Amino acid sequence: MQSFDKYGLNNNLLKSLNDLKFVKPTLIQDKVIPQILSSKSDIIATAQTGTGKTAAFGLPIINLTINHNKNIESVILCPTRELCMQISKDLNDFSKHMDHYKIVPIYGGTKIEGQIKSIRKNPKIIVCTPGRLNDMITRKKVNLSEVKYFVLDEADEMLSMGFKNDIDKILEKTPIKRKIYLFSATLSKKVKLVTESYMRNPLMISSSIANKGADTVKHIYYVSNKNKRYDIIRNIIDINSDIYTIIFCRTRRETKEISKKLIQDNYNAKVLNGDLSQNERDNVMNQFRTKEINILVATDVASRGIDVDNLSHIINYNLPDDPEVYVHRSGRTGRAGNYGLSIVLISNKEYRRLDEIKRLSKISFEKKDVPDESEILKSKMSLFASNFSKISLPSEQDKEKMKDIYSQLNVFSKEEIIGKIITLNSHKAIVSKVNHKKSTIKNQPIKTDNTMSKLRINIGRSDKLTPEMLIKLINKTIRSRDTKIGKINISKNYATFEIESNMKKNAISKMKQIRHYRKNLKVTDFTEDFQETTFNKRRKKIKEKEDFPSL
Ligand code: AMP
Repeated sequence: MQSFDKYGLNNNLLKSLNDLKFVKPTLIQDKVIPQILSSKSDIIATAQTGTGKTAAFGLPIINLTINHNKNIESVILCPTRELCMQISKDLNDFSKHMDHYKIVPIYGGTKIEGQIKSIRKNPKIIVCTPGRLNDMITRKKVNLSEVKYFVLDEADEMLSMGFKNDIDKILEKTPIKRKIYLFSATLSKKVKLVTESYMRNPLMISSSIANKGADTVKHIYYVSNKNKRYDIIRNIIDINSDIYTIIFCRTRRETKEISKKLIQDNYNAKVLNGDLSQNERDNVMNQFRTKEINILVATDVASRGIDVDNLSHIINYNLPDDPEVYVHRSGRTGRAGNYGLSIVLISNKEYRRLDEIKRLSKISFEKKDVPDESEILKSKMSLFASNFSKISLPSEQDKEKMKDIYSQLNVFSKEEIIGKIITLNSHKAIVSKVNHKKSTIKNQPIKTDNTMSKLRINIGRSDKLTPEMLIKLINKTIRSRDTKIGKINISKNYATFEIESNMKKNAISKMKQIRHYRKNLKVTDFTEDFQETTFNKRRKKIKEKEDFPSL
């Protein structure tokens, strides 16, 4: 495994690799590139993000599709808009020395007309999210009848996001002879179902053991009650002065609470959840990418497709329900050969869930004591000592001016002076920590979006409903991952959720066609219900008055 020359890729691709400074293929590239180039069989590759899988499928596919045909020859299907844009960008970088080679991204959450125009320019490769591609197919804007190579990237993510139906419909439109290359961090049951239905004698390739987190990630956990977790997070951040992290939460409310506290405490944090508009989301991601902010507080749904690959830490404020989600969360650190730390906060009652992750993902966790004030102090002092040793000495002139100071301090030994500096700075460190806590900088008010409608659904806590389940249920029925979902409130027997107003009707009509735990779902407009109830109450009062004999 030395260089890319040995695969027989065309010179223009090699030139781009040279520009990109890709000298040595990664493990997955070395295993996948020759196989795709030979086009002999379908491939199932287990590979985490960050292992170089985009080039693993991108380079050979581009190499194979250099001809003057006007058909779409390759489709790359991926779960999110962000990933779609990232893959398109990478493929454009690879093919930049190849004249007239077109790659078109097709994703939801944006106007379809522009994408329809781009399709008319006869791209060789389209990179798509499943919902939007299906839409294009239904509108007869895309023809997949000549497709030769079909990539399913992050297959487990796409399936856990409820895209199975879309994937089925899309694959049915492709010729039976096409080759399928499936990439997935984990080989879940859902993934196996797809491979069994559509792939013939696939070659299994692994750059990591299936369902196992990357070896470059260390996993540790702290046991703590909910009410201590925020302080622990602060301590973790304080100890690691260069921290670059995502804090994963289960609900939007939690993300808001934590980011609000962090911002009030003067940390460079922002929230990334489904309440943000696409624009706000892009802004936050840009700030995070450029490290203007170094802490992102996010839900799993919102953080899908984040393409930042040098995170130092992942903090799991809560354990996810699904072990696969944990593998994905922690796989966002320890990328591209760097080491990363994934930290889990659990309560005493959550050991069972941690064991389940250990068992299914073959990840080993180390229990650690909660970091305390003395560790923070030690870390701050060590940072101070490292900065102190870099400070230059005063000039002879300045020394002369400070003669009095020299004679005043001359009575102390070197040991005593070092001791005093430590005392002085440990005091400062404590003061700065206290100040951190008392900071009065207010969080920016979280904007409420008046394009959202509030709906009521007839299931709640007693039906074992969780916010994640509700989000999955909504995405599954509406069949669009890009639908904006706002605040969720789960009561005992019902729940309310906000959804972008233009999806309201769709949600009400589609959700009543499905069942949850043997119960027929009923979704109604909460605002109308509320107004109606109040109106009825008022009417009743008036009626009661009318029924009284007038005096
Ligand atoms: P991916 O898993 O495709 O998202 O790639 C992860 C990161 O590794 C991206 O920033 C790529 O640009 C980079 N990368 C991929 N292959 C190579 C390579 N052979 N040499 C150096 N960097 C690479």
